[in-house]
Amino acid sequence: MIVQKYGGSSVSTAEKIRTIAGKIRSRVNEGEKLVVVVSAMGKTTNQLIELASRVSTAPLEREMDMLLATGEQVSAALLAMALNDLGVPAISYNSFQLEMVTTRTHNNARIRDIKLIKLQKELEKHEVVVVTGFQGITDEGHITTLGRGGSDTSAVAIAAKSGSRCEIYSDVAGVYTCDPRIQPRARKIEYITYDEMLELASSGARVLHARALEIAKKYGVDLYCASTFSDERGTYVVHDLPEWLEQPVVTGITSDPNQTKVTICNLPNDTKVLSRIFVNLAQENVNIDMISTVNDNGHSHLTFTFISGNFEVVRKTLDNTLKDLEGWKFSTDDKVIKLSVIGVGMQSTTGVAGRFFSALSNSGIKLLGTTTSEIKISALVHIAEAERATEALAKEFDLLREE
Ligand code: ADP
Ligand code: ASP
Ligand code: MG
Repeated sequence: MIVQKYGGSSVSTAEKIRTIAGKIRSRVNEGEKLVVVVSAMGKTTNQLIELASRVSTAPLEREMDMLLATGEQVSAALLAMALNDLGVPAISYNSFQLEMVTTRTHNNARIRDIKLIKLQKELEKHEVVVVTGFQGITDEGHITTLGRGGSDTSAVAIAAKSGSRCEIYSDVAGVYTCDPRIQPRARKIEYITYDEMLELASSGARVLHARALEIAKKYGVDLYCASTFSDERGTYVVHDLPEWLEQPVVTGITSDPNQTKVTICNLPNDTKVLSRIFVNLAQENVNIDMISTVNDNGHSHLTFTFISGNFEVVRKTLDNTLKDLEGWKFSTDDKVIKLSVIGVGMQSTTGVAGRFFSALSNSGIKLLGTTTSEIKISALVHIAEAERATEALAKEFDLLREE
């Protein structure tokens, strides 16, 4: 059995669904049994979110999941119909019917278990079982969703549980050194490690959902990413690179515009204040990313970024936390973007940070913040400078095809 996943752009029209059905039929004719996970058609999920915002200023999370989960059910049923039309015995299932059990965190649930019995039984009677991605149910029977882009995670979880290979098909022919839609000279990567792909995904490369990589790594799922509409060879995501392949220092570069920068000036130079700020923000589920502090004349200036979306919560939490202090000033900026270069090769190479900062400063880019991990260096820059900064880093680390 093989698990395949087709994303929203691959099932955006009836014609594309019929094309995919034809592709699946060829695989069935080769003797494969397939579980095919689908996303909602095209921009359906965005449209449903927009629709919700027109009936409610604060839609209940549970009802949001009831709504969003409908998108995947439409494409699953349509694909099963198209397959049967081509003479391929196929049946569609949603996560409720399949008992794909998740945590109770609506809008961002994690898969806890998938009962395979029904899938296996149906595969005895059919060649293909089409499954709704992105959704699950709680133990209490409420519908949940797995976070934007979560269909990848549904597919990888089914592959992990059933010990199958997983093929993820989208509108690009694999994983590239940069987003190929932004940088047309991005190079396709033939093999990438789980760790690098996880960092790329969690730093903004949406080609794969980060949690799909966590599961793939943990269970050693054989993962392949390719284009739905071409036979071009895609990207293999693996534990270790093949021995014959030279490890590049930097494998890819990502950009994450989903950040808001907060600067608080004139705080007392006291770690207790910092700890109160971050403990209180965490209690409000604010997702903090980059942090830096500067001490100056007995005062401390704090800069941090949070994942955009909950500005009001951040402002209220800071007002409450700092209400007994005087003289502090607070400003925010959401016209910022986080650029990250990622590569396992950094661990065994010196001078990478030097090259990173020189490339940016030689191009006159102003740095608003930085963070590093073992295999990643990130810089926060102004949105207006993002394209130039990406180009400078991509050139420095040899990530572009020759012109
Ligand atoms: P799907 O709807 O099939 O799940 P997504 O839109 O979620 O597809 O992911 C594919 C998109 O990811 C591509 O269209 C591309 O713009 C974007 N992307 C960002 N970074 C990369 C990268 N490094 N390699 C490939 N695609 C990337
Ligand atoms: N349809 C969902 C989304 O747009 C899930 C997915 O595409 O993976 O986020
Ligand atoms: Mg996706």
